[in-house]
Amino acid sequence: MFSVLKPLPTDPILGLMAAYKQDTNPNKIDLGVGVYKDEQGNTPVLKSVKKAEAFRLENEISKSYIGLAGNLDYCQKMEQLLLGEHQALLANRVRTAQAPGGTGALRVAAEFIARCNAKATIWVTNPTWANHISLFEAAGLTVKEYPYYDYENKDLLFDEMINTLKQVPKGDVVLLHACCHNPSGMDLSETQWNIVAELAKDVGFTPLIDIAYQGFGASLEEDARGLRILANAVEELIICSSCSKNFGLYRERIGACSLIAKDSAAADISNSVMLSVVRSIYSMPPAHGADIVNTILSSTELTQMWHSELDEMRNRINGLRSLIKETLATKDIAQDFSFIERQNGMFSFLGINKEQIARLQKEYAIYIVGSSRVNIAGVSKANIDYFANAVAAVCK
Ligand code: PMP
Repeated sequence: MFSVLKPLPTDPILGLMAAYKQDTNPNKIDLGVGVYKDEQGNTPVLKSVKKAEAFRLENEISKSYIGLAGNLDYCQKMEQLLLGEHQALLANRVRTAQAPGGTGALRVAAEFIARCNAKATIWVTNPTWANHISLFEAAGLTVKEYPYYDYENKDLLFDEMINTLKQVPKGDVVLLHACCHNPSGMDLSETQWNIVAELAKDVGFTPLIDIAYQGFGASLEEDARGLRILANAVEELIICSSCSKNFGLYRERIGACSLIAKDSAAADISNSVMLSVVRSIYSMPPAHGADIVNTILSSTELTQMWHSELDEMRNRINGLRSLIKETLATKDIAQDFSFIERQNGMFSFLGINKEQIARLQKEYAIYIVGSSRVNIAGVSKANIDYFANAVAAVCK
């Protein structure tokens, strides 16, 4: 049976990671893979997570199944983190299932959408996180793109985006990145979120919010502002969240899929379908990550510790954005890189061509994916000059 298969290419980012590992150049820099790194280039376990794990080790009393929706306390904490004191919560219109990472949450959402409307098209930003496209297609949905990033002016194509979204048929789904757009770093302003929210209401599409970087842009609250604006405007909303980045829990696979329905009864029905989707994919989520997040968010002391660790990660990224812009400006380069400071989160497109990217890798051991997306957190005070000189050299 297996003999009919043809080999598939490996994911370009995974290939880049492997090549980076093998590179013996002591100056090598990895700007490819999307994980946060500290000044030393490490992705350490947060102190708040270590404390929560120690607590869990002492207090865990069973390894029995946790149920389809996972840890219900965790689900409730996530709803508060995402929505604050939102009226949808007070009206009991929200249902959440713990999921294996943001990816698992998105797959649950995709299957849920297919159960609502097997012919639904999901509209994604052009460009978007590559896995969006494959995971929605894997659930049988049609994927179409709407204009989003202006490569030329390093800005949003907002008018083009709105013009396309105006044509979206009622019953389709529009995916929006809540903050720290991956891969462009370009986010909607509050005014623009309001326009999109009005449009969703008028046109009748269902928004799906992917929030994988809450707290990495401006703050936990501000990064959730767009999704709360949407939740005010529409009756139905899907939110896929991830704790991979903001809690540094990448390999624990912890996220959530939240549904907001028009009323409490509709929320119960939607929840029953979401849980049946869960049952047919992975039955129940793993316990560890949810327990850690719940332990942190249940303790004032650990929450404060986590907030300051999250602030540190965000401040480092934002500081690096300014440092990259300033250092590149001191080099003899024609291009203007000031857009890097205006964008948010871990990623921006450097805006250099494939040949320049290949030279950075070959001649300077600087690893960047082919789209020129860079992980800002891979830069440090120690390597910024080496990086900027290399960029200047290949841009000449
Ligand atoms: N959405 C976006 C936009 C992402 O960038 C990522 C991670 N790269 C995810 C979802 C999924 O995150 P995870 O499955 O690792 O929690």
